[in-house]
Amino acid sequence: MIKWKCTVCGYIHTGDEPPDECPMCGAEKSEFVEIAVAEDITPELEDEVSEEVGDNNAERISLFDKLVDLMLQNHLHPISVHTPNGIVPAAVLFLVLAYIFQLSSFELAAYYNLVFVLLAMPVVLFTGIVEWQKHYKGARTSVFITKITCGTVVLVSLLVLVLWRIADPEVAAPASSSRWIYFLIHIIALGAVGLAGHLGGKLVFGRSRK
Ligand SMILES: [Zn+2]
Repeated sequence: MIKWKCTVCGYIHTGDEPPDECPMCGAEKSEFVEIAVAEDITPELEDEVSEEVGDNNAERISLFDKLVDLMLQNHLHPISVHTPNGIVPAAVLFLVLAYIFQLSSFELAAYYNLVFVLLAMPVVLFTGIVEWQKHYKGARTSVFITKITCGTVVLVSLLVLVLWRIADPEVAAPASSSRWIYFLIHIIALGAVGLAGHLGGKLVFGRSRK
């Protein structure tokens, strides 16, 4: 039995041949290398780190690159995604309770939660794109395309909801005729957050299997 490593996400496959498609990230068969070969290819990040530490040319590395390295080393994307992953479901729950029990205070709580997530989204998306480029070679497999689509859907949904709520503070009130469309957009955002989180978890879990 030969061990094969996915050069996109680091998934290890054991068998005579690599799989047709990586089960973790969807990369093609050609992205797999035999493990002995794979070990010669030092991961990009480690390369950069050792360069920075052991080399006098460190000064030439721009401040931006340093910040990016720091961001990756400290897993800023998996940390920052907790904001949408944790708070969007809470906002939806508050809204459901507000609708059932006609509680305007819960509706307001849901709205403030959304505002907070919207403010965090630039960090979530930026760190996600950087991580995709640096750790996953910017591979355009279904997993990453789905994640990027989900991130965009979340951003657009939140923007629409927050701007709508600002323009019409009564949009979710029992008398409002648009309250169900407003609710539906919450569900779309929740679905996108859930799917992106599920795929992200799968990727991180796959990487750690060595
Ligand atoms: Zn893979």
